[in-house]
Amino acid sequence: MLMSTNESKDTLTGKMSTDDYIRFLESKLRWLEVEKERLKMQIKYYQTEIEKLLSPPLVEAIVIDVLDDGRAIVKSTTGPNLIVSVSEKIDKERLHPGMHVALNQRGSTIVEILPDYEDPYVKSMEVIERPEVSFSDIGGLKSQIQELKEVVELPLKNPDLFREVGIEPPKGVLLYGPPGCGKTLLAKAVAHEAGATFISIVGSELVQKFIGEGARIVREVFRLARKKAPAIVFIDEIDAIAARRLDIGTSGEREVQRTLMQLLAEIDGFRPLDNVKIIAATNRIDILDPAILRPGRFDRLIEVPLPDLNGRYEIFKVHTRRMKLRDVDLYELARRAEGATGAEIKAIVTEAGYNAIRDGRKYVTMTDFIKAVDKVMTKKYIRDNNMKYLDNKREKRLFSPIFQ
Ligand code: ATP
Repeated sequence: MLMSTNESKDTLTGKMSTDDYIRFLESKLRWLEVEKERLKMQIKYYQTEIEKLLSPPLVEAIVIDVLDDGRAIVKSTTGPNLIVSVSEKIDKERLHPGMHVALNQRGSTIVEILPDYEDPYVKSMEVIERPEVSFSDIGGLKSQIQELKEVVELPLKNPDLFREVGIEPPKGVLLYGPPGCGKTLLAKAVAHEAGATFISIVGSELVQKFIGEGARIVREVFRLARKKAPAIVFIDEIDAIAARRLDIGTSGEREVQRTLMQLLAEIDGFRPLDNVKIIAATNRIDILDPAILRPGRFDRLIEVPLPDLNGRYEIFKVHTRRMKLRDVDLYELARRAEGATGAEIKAIVTEAGYNAIRDGRKYVTMTDFIKAVDKVMTKKYIRDNNMKYLDNKREKRLFSPIFQ
């Protein structure tokens, strides 16, 4: 009920003038209008939330074909191919085969076009038709290259020779050694030389990034390898799925075990002269499950060690091939870079190039390289010592009650 102006004026302030009182009421009105809008928005929000909660789930499908009469053939994830109509809301021009769409719950109409997403199988593996890297891009590692030529390249290129002589080459090769020393490079180069497709997966990603998908991805990788043969399947960090296990009680461990079982089943399913070869790599051969090293699996082990003086010299030679060098003694650099991995030598060469650019030169000098060796090797020294410190600390924690 409205109060009379005088009454309410008196009630509110006792001495507010009529004009002030009108202004007061106007501002109150404005505030109420704003409040009304806010509440309307809130109602709308809750209405859509209720709609979402009550709406039935949609069915995902992939468009196979768009028919002339405006309908479409789709493959639903629940089963058979369906001929469905297309909702008026959908822009029919945008529909094309391969697209992910949502069907209404009865599965009779396309009601939404879903955004493209990458298949986890595709994301989890790298497929290179024929890698660019060749054996001439590898410094040192001569005996490893020779062995890979015999056990991977030759059987892929000339299986008949093995049949005639009556011997079976190994199905799988395990490359082991410290990180950054050329394992991946070797696998890519042998694929290049054999004219094979290179398909690679990373063990740690299978268990950390694609949880629950490990075994299925392994199956897919080998299916793809058969299709693209001749092919090389490269499994980096195989220790993540093939480490010796004492206890497989947790669900995570069981999942890793399933992935390994699938891998072993795939390897066992090959004949040695099939045109798919498997190369795995690890920095931790000491922790591998002996099951994977049995004959007929990864029964050829090739060590890829830290390069020695000559190896470092060869790696310097490879990475400086396209550089303009002035008075650079690569042998002396190899001597100074004692303990460096191939990856670190590459970093040294890049850093030396930067030193020249910073100086406005297009050629690289010995001083550029010496500065670069110091920088990269100091960083390495600090990193290695930190690792040692952390390892010690971890060991003390494990074995000393004081640290527990
Ligand atoms: P990780 O265990 O970390 O995967 P890895 O042994 O597979 O290491 P690569 O990826 O092959 O090492 O090497 C990393 C990079 O280091 C290569 O891309 C290459 O540039 C350089 N490199 C390593 N070893 C050599 C080598 N012997 N000759 C030339 N370059 C090398």
